[in-house]
Amino acid sequence: MKGKPTASYKLIADAGGNRFQFFCDLSGALACTTEPVRADTPEEALMLAWKREGRQHFNHCHKCGRWVSDVMYNADVMECVDCAPWENVPKFCPQCGKRLSSPERFCSKCGAKLLYEGSEFDD
Ligand SMILES: [Zn+2]
Ligand SMILES: [Zn+2]
Repeated sequence: MKGKPTASYKLIADAGGNRFQFFCDLSGALACTTEPVRADTPEEALMLAWKREGRQHFNHCHKCGRWVSDVMYNADVMECVDCAPWENVPKFCPQCGKRLSSPERFCSKCGAKLLYEGSEFDD
């Protein structure tokens, strides 16, 4: 399979086992913190945590192989929004994932410039 086996993660040692935090490869946003996992090796614990809990929070980009959260995923073409940007007014800020209720030129949360169809050619 193309790409990495799991999304970016951070291991958190816990008395009951290892917890894992999984992060969107594109935005870096925390998507999931798992329950403690017990396994013989950290690698096994990671894969267990990923299969049980992490995986369901992510989408796999079929182009670049990164694991991204729902807001960073263009489900129409099964690619991340980095590989396949939304062509029309984005429903979410591609930078921070804020839901956009009305067309805005800049994200009110993080200030990212929001690209609209044809905007590259206008000015
Ligand atoms: Zn991609
Ligand atoms: Zn934003």
